[in-house]
Amino acid sequence: MPVASIIDTSPKSHYDVIVIGSGAAALSTALSAVQQGLSVAVLEKSSHIGGTTAWSGGWMWLPLNPYAKEAGFQDSKENAKRYIQSVAGGRELDPRVDTFLDAAPEMVEHYRSTTEVDFISGDKVPDMQDLPGSVKGGRSLCAAPFDGRTLGREIRFLRKPLDLTTVWGMSIGSFELRQFYDALRKPSALLHVCKRFTAHFKDLALHRRSMYLQNGNVLAASLFKSNLNLGVDLFTDVQINDLICENGSVTGVCIKSNDADFVINSNAVVSAAGGFPHSKALLDQFAAHRAGAKHFSAAVPENIGDIIQMALKQGAAISADYAEAAAWAPCSVYTRIDGTTCNYPHLLERGKPGILAIGQDGRRFTNEANCYHQFQKGLFDSHSSEQPYSWLIADRKAYRRWGLGCAKPAPFLNIQALKSGYLIKAQSLQVLADKIAVPFEAFQETISRFNQFAKTGEDLDFRRGESTYNKGAGDFEHQPNPSLGEIKKAPFYAVKLNSGSLGTFIGLKTNHECQVINAAEEPIPGLYAVGNEAASIFRGDYPSGGITLGPAMTFGYLCGKAIAKHLNNESDQ
Ligand SMILES: Cc1cc2nc3c(=O)[nH]c(=O)nc-3n(C[C@H](O)[C@H](O)[C@H](O)COP(=O)(O)OP(=O)(O)OC[C@H]3O[C@@H](n4cnc5c(N)ncnc54)[C@H](O)[C@@H]3O)c2cc1C
Repeated sequence: MPVASIIDTSPKSHYDVIVIGSGAAALSTALSAVQQGLSVAVLEKSSHIGGTTAWSGGWMWLPLNPYAKEAGFQDSKENAKRYIQSVAGGRELDPRVDTFLDAAPEMVEHYRSTTEVDFISGDKVPDMQDLPGSVKGGRSLCAAPFDGRTLGREIRFLRKPLDLTTVWGMSIGSFELRQFYDALRKPSALLHVCKRFTAHFKDLALHRRSMYLQNGNVLAASLFKSNLNLGVDLFTDVQINDLICENGSVTGVCIKSNDADFVINSNAVVSAAGGFPHSKALLDQFAAHRAGAKHFSAAVPENIGDIIQMALKQGAAISADYAEAAAWAPCSVYTRIDGTTCNYPHLLERGKPGILAIGQDGRRFTNEANCYHQFQKGLFDSHSSEQPYSWLIADRKAYRRWGLGCAKPAPFLNIQALKSGYLIKAQSLQVLADKIAVPFEAFQETISRFNQFAKTGEDLDFRRGESTYNKGAGDFEHQPNPSLGEIKKAPFYAVKLNSGSLGTFIGLKTNHECQVINAAEEPIPGLYAVGNEAASIFRGDYPSGGITLGPAMTFGYLCGKAIAKHLNNESDQ
């Protein structure tokens, strides 16, 4: 059966496996389970398949993956573990780290050879911190571009990329990003951009959407297509009322369909509903000191932890003792022309020359070129207010070259960004300071000190531009420090950065077979969790980009196999 809205069609009354959600974790689990010969239903709350995965960069941290081996990268499990331990400091590693490192290469090999999922190697993508065990490339993979036409009519069910991360609906892949930045400077880059736009406008005319799928959208699409090929039943618009439990085992779900309750029985229920980045109650309970009164997550709005709450009622344990509760990210709030708003995560431009961040006191508080999680932690650690926010500042040159948040680089005019007050523009630093209400003297001092660092190439305050990751976040053509450029040409611009996240780290406690466990660390029969619904294997640390999707794909793969094994064991008894 192709994907169906629950409103139109009812699912069967029994499946071997019910998977809740349809992001990478869910679709990897469903795929693995159906490959084991199990009957599988995917139940998605929204009208679209793909979750936050479909909005993401699609990077997966998968040490020792076959592409790295083929490219000749020298790495080992011990080395990868040394890095994870370096990031964790003295804290003990989760035993599931071993499971992950052992299974990740197998997962990649298995999916690339048996499904529509294909990968590209991130040869030059370094680990986020220069610590013992880190590497300068080879541990990250991205899903390979995919022709949307392969999905046929079902593409209408694929969640589109987040509009603000596209140019008129066209996703820009990590590997071609530089060409777009250089379009006004280099003829070869301009040619590439023109070709892409020509193809995109053709797609819009013929299909009313982009058909050249990239980044996380292609990961979701290729998993979706693979599930369709193998006969997984996928349903959208599903409202799950509760988990069904008998004698301590989870035996199905109760859903609402056409205003009536309907039970679907199953041998296993896998929760892959994306964690709780939009649950005020759970954030208050587990992350109040960080999330503040209002949290601005860039994850899809459906991820509200409702299934986690249902699992807690059945005695599931949650990992409340993590280093950080979520993958923090600075997010600005953009108001579209139709009045709707969107939390936009600042993942790209903070480390570019000519851009810096200040707190409400007008002073820098961290190394802006560090990853979003560290950046946001820097704000939390240096500000005691309950709802800290910061400002990203750029001068004319940097703004035109790199853009600022949703405001795109030249030649875009960003009229809505200016009109809505998202992008604040001023002809002098004094006026900008007044507009964003920061003390001018401190602000001016910050800028002149920063400009001094830009001239010498050395950031004496936060060592910006020194690490491998910082260098990559900057501009390799810029000297003497790729990440430090002066802020001197008017007009000046500012965008407000709120405390947000890409998703939560705290989640349901699981064992190495993805079974949800209770406080006594015993599995709750029939209940599994993967992706952000499960507690992160990195216990609140952020070793590298791709540390949610890599494990989501890997544990999804393992989960399908584990369920098959458990069901076989049961039938043998
Ligand atoms: C802009 C952006 C870029 C990112 N880039 C990366 C990256 O490059 N690499 C990386 O590792 N991470 C990245 N992330 C984070 C990453 O996208 C998420 O951590 C990841 O997608 C989580 O996968 P998941 O399968 O657990 O959840 P999701 O992909 O969010 O899927 C959860 C699904 O469950 C559904 N759902 C929720 N509740 C219910 C319910 N009650 N019943 C049924 N369905 C339900 C949701 O609608 C959703 O479809 C990025 C995030 C953003 C916002």
